Amino acid sequence: MEQIKIPKSDYYNHVPYRNDLFIKIANIFNPHLPVKNMRAAITFDVEPDLHTEGYRSVTEGILRILQILNKHKIKATFFTTCDCIEKYPSIFRGIKAKGHEVALHGYRHERFDDLSLLEKEKRISLSIKCFKKHLKMHPKGFRAVQHSSDADTFRLLEKYNFSYDSSRAPLNLLQFIFFPKRMKRNFLDFFSNPFPHKINNIIEIPTSSFLLPFVSLVPRVFPKLIQKLYINLLALFFNDLVFYAHSWDFIKVEESRIDNKFSHERVINNLDFILSYLRSKKFKFITMQDYRLI
Ligand SMILES: [Zn+2]
Repeated sequence: MEQIKIPKSDYYNHVPYRNDLFIKIANIFNPHLPVKNMRAAITFDVEPDLHTEGYRSVTEGILRILQILNKHKIKATFFTTCDCIEKYPSIFRGIKAKGHEVALHGYRHERFDDLSLLEKEKRISLSIKCFKKHLKMHPKGFRAVQHSSDADTFRLLEKYNFSYDSSRAPLNLLQFIFFPKRMKRNFLDFFSNPFPHKINNIIEIPTSSFLLPFVSLVPRVFPKLIQKLYINLLALFFNDLVFYAHSWDFIKVEESRIDNKFSHERVINNLDFILSYLRSKKFKFITMQDYRLI
């Protein structure tokens, strides 16, 4: 029997969580029934180590991340602050040479919404110079520290030829816990568009969340069964998943209470598990710069 061909543009134009919901629910029970066009971007925020401000997460953590990615033959995106690149340019040249994407996490690790327009512009232009000098490239993507991009940030990203931003954190309850003083901002973010969309000429690709964000907390804390259920829950609503962890999630941080209770070893082992699971669910892995609105 001849298969009916749906033109690609029509297929993608539908509201994903309505039309795909049945097949996605069926897919939970029958993984041989692959849901089409599911994409996953694995991303890492590379910055000075939590508490100590050292760079072991760059010199040691990245190595561990690369080992896992290599094992699964997955290309990832590394949102990096420029101090890390200036200190260890060869590590980032190596990441780029392996086909991963290096994108910008800020000139230094500082919130963007606390800076004046002039200061923001200065940081972005210094960052572009740093990428050009050390990596011979212009960064395409930006993720603001602690999800702190604002309207001015989007205008500047456009002015400086970025193509996407991944700073927004919709449906993310952790923002209220970690940043209780920024209630208004947290509310606005919580109810912002959770699907990839355009803001002027910049594509906003929000990090995935359904009350809890798809971050290192998931592999660090949850048992495998809950991780699977959580991924299936996310996949019911979203066709594109954006996972992120920090470079310091992959090293021992003595001063960190969470690391002492839920070791970084769990992040390492369970990221390996999550990547296998996403692949078994037929997710296609992409870097953020390869993302296209469809
Ligand atoms: Zn950060």
